[in-house]
Amino acid sequence: MSNMEAPANTPVWVNEARCKACDKCVSVCPAGVLAMRQEVHSTLGSMIKVVHPEACIGCTDCELACPDFAIYVADKKEFKFAKLTEEAKERKEAVIKNNYRELEA
Ligand code: SF4
Ligand code: SF4
Repeated sequence: MSNMEAPANTPVWVNEARCKACDKCVSVCPAGVLAMRQEVHSTLGSMIKVVHPEACIGCTDCELACPDFAIYVADKKEFKFAKLTEEAKERKEAVIKNNYRELEA
């Protein structure tokens, strides 16, 4: 469970101090919300990033998959999540093909 206070109006958020850059949350997210950004000072040279918060469907798969309790999802009673779209599914596939890294803009 979260050890951080939920930020207002935010579907999914991270505690970067806990992230070990294992990619697990990115691999399970069905909506391509998450990706790894380059971060030279962190483990494995990358860090989790919430790239498309507006696409989060609130499934909590990322939170359940994270071995380090570094990512948190808002309560369904407190946030109105998106619906899963084709665009989101395609982005997920593209991120995975890109070795979990953030796609170029
Ligand atoms: S709650 Fe689901 S859709 Fe939202 S970031 Fe986590 S895995 Fe992705
Ligand atoms: S599953 Fe957790 S530790 Fe692994 S990349 Fe995601 S937030 Fe970081």
